[in-house]
Amino acid sequence: MAGRLGRWEQVIGVAALVIGGPLLATCSDADGDLGGRTTLPSTAPIGTPSSTLPTSVEGSVPPTSITGTVPGSLAATTTSVVAALPPISNPGAVVVIDPGHNGANGANPSEINRLVDAGGFQKACNTTGTAEGGLTESSFNLDLARLVRTRLEQAGVRVLLTREDDRGWGPCIDERGQVAARAGADALVSLHADGADAGAHGFHVIHPTAIAGYTDTTANASASLAGDLRDALVETDHTPATYVGGDGLVARGDLGTLNRAGAPAAMVEVGNMHNPGDLDTMTSLDERGRLADALAAGVLRFLAGEGPG
Ligand code: ZN
Repeated sequence: MAGRLGRWEQVIGVAALVIGGPLLATCSDADGDLGGRTTLPSTAPIGTPSSTLPTSVEGSVPPTSITGTVPGSLAATTTSVVAALPPISNPGAVVVIDPGHNGANGANPSEINRLVDAGGFQKACNTTGTAEGGLTESSFNLDLARLVRTRLEQAGVRVLLTREDDRGWGPCIDERGQVAARAGADALVSLHADGADAGAHGFHVIHPTAIAGYTDTTANASASLAGDLRDALVETDHTPATYVGGDGLVARGDLGTLNRAGAPAAMVEVGNMHNPGDLDTMTSLDERGRLADALAAGVLRFLAGEGPG
């Protein structure tokens, strides 16, 4: 046990060095994408001792992250709508927002292919996410997470992000979930954009199935959270996915971020990046703000329904 913990600390320590952030910001999440999943070939066997972990780019796999101009701006925070959001009943609420993937995952295949406990089974630490039209999913997820954070904070919620920049790798999916568990969070919302066939479009919200010892005590609340997020998106004229689920909701048991959260948790695939219409929504600053409005409203609705404590 001590040896395993020691290795973990070493791994996290390397991650902190790589991305230069605090411990929480190094934790990473799993991929919820139904399509376009990109598990990278590893240049080293999975389970490579942490002592060999590089602190710089490794391997010949081209990163999928796209440097340079990303459509949209992190400064595009529109907060005026917050005034219209309902007051929360528990102002001490803590919410973890998890921007899926990370910008340098593709450059660190051995790290993100390392297997972790995703909820009673092993799964890769993380994946690259998808990309389209000069926009990477990881950068989009982070921008959207920041917009949601601003809105929730203005409503009195304490918000933790699982990563603060788009320059590193990870954190692994188990660590992303455990940010919520360690903080005693009231909810975790993981943000993603899907990479399905171009003709498929619309959003879907994933909640974890009940897994003994992992999600069995939170599965019902997670379904409520997902329902509140779905309702808020529908009420703001966002279209439920045409290619999965039937009402914008999907239950899955294979997502480590949700399975390891120890709290009500949901993953939002806000659209399909490979669909031109959905991509337009993601690249439009106004539409990005509307997505954040809806997601914040859904979280606040869930918190109000949960009641104090
Ligand atoms: Zn994703």
